[in-house]
Amino acid sequence: MTFLWEQMWERLASEEFDLIVIGGGIVGACVARDATLRGLKVALLERKDFASATSGASSKLIHGGLRYLMNLEIGLVRESLKERRIWSQIAPHLVNSLPFILPIHGNKKFRERLMYSLGLKAYDWLSYDRNRLSDPNKFIPPHKRVSRQDILAIEPRLEEMNFNDALLFHDYQMYSPERLAWACLKQSITQGAVVLNYTEVVGFLRDKTRIVGVKIKNRDDGRETQIKGKVIVNATGPWADRLIAIATEKEPARKIIRSKGIHILTKPLTTKYAIAMPGKGTHFFVLPWQGYSLLGTTDTIYQGDPDDVHVSERELVEFLSMINRGFEGANLRRGDVLFFYAGLRPIVEKDPQETEEEFNSYNASRSAEVFDHAQDACDGLITAVGGKWTTSRHLAERVVNKVFEKLGATPPPCKTDLTPVHGVDFHVFNEFLDEVKKQYADFPPEIIENLAHNYGTEIHKVLELALIDPQLGEPLSNTRKEIGAQVVYAVREEMARHLNDVLFRRTNMGNLGDPGEDVLRKTIDLMSHELAWQETVCDSEKNKSRVQFVSWARTFVIVNPKAWGNMTGKIWPNIEKKIHHAIGPVKVAFTEKQGHGTILAREALTEGYEQIIAVGGDGTINEVVNGFFKDDKRINPEAVFAIISTGTGRDFSRTLGWPYDIDQQIEHLAETSVYPLDLGKMKFVNLQGEEVSRYFVNIASFGLSGATDRAVNRYVWLKQYSGKLAFFLGMLQALLTYRNKSVRLKIDNQFDDVLDIKTVAVCNGKYFGSGMKVSPNSEINDGWFDVIVIPGISTFELLLNVNKVYQGTHLTHPEIKIFKAQKVVATPAHTAGEVLLDVDGEVPGYLPASFEILHDAIYVRIAPKKEIEAD
Ligand SMILES: Cc1cc2nc3c(=O)[nH]c(=O)nc-3n(C[C@H](O)[C@H](O)[C@H](O)COP(=O)(O)OP(=O)(O)OC[C@H]3O[C@@H](n4cnc5c(N)ncnc54)[C@H](O)[C@@H]3O)c2cc1C
Repeated sequence: MTFLWEQMWERLASEEFDLIVIGGGIVGACVARDATLRGLKVALLERKDFASATSGASSKLIHGGLRYLMNLEIGLVRESLKERRIWSQIAPHLVNSLPFILPIHGNKKFRERLMYSLGLKAYDWLSYDRNRLSDPNKFIPPHKRVSRQDILAIEPRLEEMNFNDALLFHDYQMYSPERLAWACLKQSITQGAVVLNYTEVVGFLRDKTRIVGVKIKNRDDGRETQIKGKVIVNATGPWADRLIAIATEKEPARKIIRSKGIHILTKPLTTKYAIAMPGKGTHFFVLPWQGYSLLGTTDTIYQGDPDDVHVSERELVEFLSMINRGFEGANLRRGDVLFFYAGLRPIVEKDPQETEEEFNSYNASRSAEVFDHAQDACDGLITAVGGKWTTSRHLAERVVNKVFEKLGATPPPCKTDLTPVHGVDFHVFNEFLDEVKKQYADFPPEIIENLAHNYGTEIHKVLELALIDPQLGEPLSNTRKEIGAQVVYAVREEMARHLNDVLFRRTNMGNLGDPGEDVLRKTIDLMSHELAWQETVCDSEKNKSRVQFVSWARTFVIVNPKAWGNMTGKIWPNIEKKIHHAIGPVKVAFTEKQGHGTILAREALTEGYEQIIAVGGDGTINEVVNGFFKDDKRINPEAVFAIISTGTGRDFSRTLGWPYDIDQQIEHLAETSVYPLDLGKMKFVNLQGEEVSRYFVNIASFGLSGATDRAVNRYVWLKQYSGKLAFFLGMLQALLTYRNKSVRLKIDNQFDDVLDIKTVAVCNGKYFGSGMKVSPNSEINDGWFDVIVIPGISTFELLLNVNKVYQGTHLTHPEIKIFKAQKVVATPAHTAGEVLLDVDGEVPGYLPASFEILHDAIYVRIAPKKEIEAD
């Protein structure tokens, strides 16, 4: 059977086009729709699937954008509000009204309350024509104040939220942005356009200073060809500057800055109301969508490759933590996250003098720009970039007017504001819904409702398949509303070529999280039957989809079974079950020998894991942290480090304020914040006499502490009962033979002298020796070491003062020296007599050594309230 896609590809070779549109997001789709409705011959080329980039990663709102009012972008807000009305009129099945509440907190100042009320009043005025619609169910009332009681009656989950009352206003929400983009594209196909996905524009055809066509490549089978077009529109969103650079062979005069936004889908926090939570320089939405809560979004400058954009574990945890802070009672845990996605807003830089760091993407205008590249010796090429989903129809109108100008013709009137999108021949959606429910009374009503929303009048074609083959009328699983006919229809009529096209864009199955093995299998069976896939293709398609779902389980756990006197291995099965419950599936590996933690962490990060949890003592923690680096570079600068501390000393976890109780530690992993952590980097001589370097996370010290550590590590049996006692005995044993060492110390440019020392501690953290608070003033991310020099005092005096060290009150001792430093060099004054090092509780070698602070070197999970200090 020749499917739509093959027919389209064949037509490319035989036809010449007035307009070639590059990019099948909503902007490209709207341009193609408008141009075909005005009679142009159009080809649209999309390198992946339609609406698979920014247009499939939005907050799904058709809205005016209340916050743009705060930036006084009145023109943009009015344009958006007008477009909001148009979308609900032309796509009533896919655009529904959504009530928002803006909670007014008890502590909100009068000024803020007044500001929101005035803002919403202006919002009402600017949308004066909002109810000029054929469907009364879409009418939007003016905003009003609602009491806490009234809200709680509908949203009891808001009980714990601290608010007095709220302002209620309405915007619209898309049932499925991907299907709305498709409805626009399908309309252009029915008007004669050639529309192709998985077709990438890789170059341009030129005739002197004109662009006259494009070189294209089929991304599935590598076929290449060229097509001619009189005008070319670059609608590639975040890739727009790349296409401009290919055409003009130079960087665009005004840079495109990409701002990243993430969303997560969680258990429902509300059922009816969306919540807008404004903050300073940020805001977030809690949006009810398809029975769940969609939470968005962030706004951060993105400097990576747009093809690689994804939600990092760090962003996810930080975002969850922000929601939990702003939405009292949400108590979202990592395991509540069902799905997430990231998108890039292309924002055209206004001031070329401004650096990317200075640029404020949150406050940057969301207005769109249209560039005519005649000035770049690329006549015939137009770029349309920026803007919002909501305003894309209007942007397309401007672009198509420009296309006519380029063609030397007077533009006919634009019809897209009055012509319903494909699949609409009704005025009132609910009436249509009642009709189809009656007509297909044999099907469960929720299935018909889902089909009516997604397909409009195309529902008849989908159900025709189910009437011919009743098996196709069955839901794909008993928890899903999607039926097999949708899969077959997607392949035959909607150009779905891959499993992900069906899961994420022709249906919403994937956007609600993992649909389960059964659904995946059935969907693949139906697709492979249609597309004659071999088993290897089925496997590869499944794997590509699985990555989308398991991508949230990106945690690798490194367990040292020998830590805590072999106890860690014994209790691990129990810990694993609890971790799974708290944060979902994780991958686990056990260390088998010294240094193995570093190798395992390095391998996991190279493979793409985003969070590494070290389970064990301070030594294991140190090994794992060393695995974050390869050739002195961070393997993944976004990667997050976390611990389940089961060791003897637990000195690093004390500094972090991490609880002692293992169950509590696991609970914290489900809900904690992420914090940048300084590391120390040291060069020293290892036990084999070689000069080596390594990182340390907590404290590196030398002298008595090194000798003590060596002794303590012999008390394996005692460590599982009392780390403190083992350390104390080790210290007594070391003291019997320890003689004060003479060391030359260079501390930045402030100190350079030879001293007799008992111990010198170069501290990032506060504790060593199983709870000795040797450096009470250390902070793990201040960019400084605290260097504590304990001089060569007598053993008797040391023992007298030991208790003070546990309490952190020893620094007042007149002989103790304290420095803040970034670089320390320690060299034995006499070559004879080894000075042992103690690095995070292990003895890796001797002096000479140098120590350098690395500020904000990696991210670490800490206790929710950033309690760095704990005893
Ligand atoms: C986090 C976030 C939330 C948002 N929320 C909202 C919202 O709620 N409401 C709203 O109105 N707006 C919202 N927006 C804005 C809105 O999503 C965008 O304005 C809109 O989707 C941009 O569409 P586009 O077609 O320009 O880009 P895209 O959807 O990215 O489309 C560009 C397409 O070009 C293709 N392409 C690239 N290079 C080539 C090539 N060489 N050959 C062929 N094809 C190519 C890409 O594959 C891509 O599919 C949001 C944006 C973000 C990032």
